Amino acid sequence: QAKKAGGERIFCFEANMEAEVKHRYKMESEIRAGIPRQEFVPFYQPQYGIRESNLVGFEVLARWKHPSGILIEPTDFIPLAEDTGLISALSFSVMRQAFIDAKDWDHSLVLAVNISPVQLIDPTLDKRIMKLLAETGFPAQRLELEITESSLLEDTPQVLSTITSLKALGVRISLDDFGTGYSAMTQLKAFPFDRIKIDRSFVYSMLDNGESAAIVNSITSLAASLDVPITAEGIESDEMRAYLDNIGCTDGQGWLYGHPTSKEDLMKLLPQITLPAREAEDDRSEKS
Ligand code: C2E
Ligand code: MG
Ligand code: MG
Ligand code: MG
Repeated sequence: QAKKAGGERIFCFEANMEAEVKHRYKMESEIRAGIPRQEFVPFYQPQYGIRESNLVGFEVLARWKHPSGILIEPTDFIPLAEDTGLISALSFSVMRQAFIDAKDWDHSLVLAVNISPVQLIDPTLDKRIMKLLAETGFPAQRLELEITESSLLEDTPQVLSTITSLKALGVRISLDDFGTGYSAMTQLKAFPFDRIKIDRSFVYSMLDNGESAAIVNSITSLAASLDVPITAEGIESDEMRAYLDNIGCTDGQGWLYGHPTSKEDLMKLLPQITLPAREAEDDRSEKS
């Protein structure tokens, strides 16, 4: 009896493995086909200056408009896209759409784009970004690339040279999800970051967990002493905002300010940014 049950378990395990392999294979071909069809689209999450509550820009977050009608979140397709080498084409498709969308928004607004560790080891990344900026007319000065600590574990001269050449163009580099990786301090010294983002896992619990609060406090004062602006992720309440303002955190994003939003919904929410930059400037001078 016991033997039989074990045998069934093994059979069941193999059947699951096979189903899993089939599922991944199906998804891979769907991702491959979906990229040129622009099924991967940019959503925009606002980033605010905490003290003045002023809009400073948007983080670009990919969403998959699956042909079945479902909207799929990045955690469900980015890892597979990374494993299959499709991440680069996918990210460039999303970035291109974002540059075109945001080009005519108020020229003070920055776009923050996520770059996966897999993309960062591509020795042609800087050239490809340069080419996309030139083709779309989006200014390098309005682009910020978010990279994670794990990107830098390789710490190859190649990665440093890519970052250096992008910075020479005027592109800024921020360190995403700070505090969740390894050897954070060494990397702060080795790489010339323009911004640090505190991971939302610390922000989430800082009001009722002493350790989280200590981590948020010390990352914020570290950033201040390095004279680097800092963005807190995952601000969901006004209490969180007030706490962060009080300790000197400069910028923030999270549900308090806005969820990631499609371009169409954003246009309804913030009509002023739909104006071409010229008109937006005229508008301001009329008021003053
Ligand atoms: P991330 O860069 O750390 O992005 C922040 C994530 O936090 C987003 O999840 C956002 O929706 C979520 N978030 C923002 N505010 C709040 C809040 O107040 N509360 C809570 N609970 N969550 C909040 P999302 O959109 O699911 O993206 C997940 C990750 O996928 C991103 O993490 C980013 O690393 C990656 N990703 C997204 N788009 C792209 C892309 O185009 N290329 C690459 N390479 N990675 C991407
Ligand atoms: Mg999400
Ligand atoms: Mg990010
Ligand atoms: Mg993050």
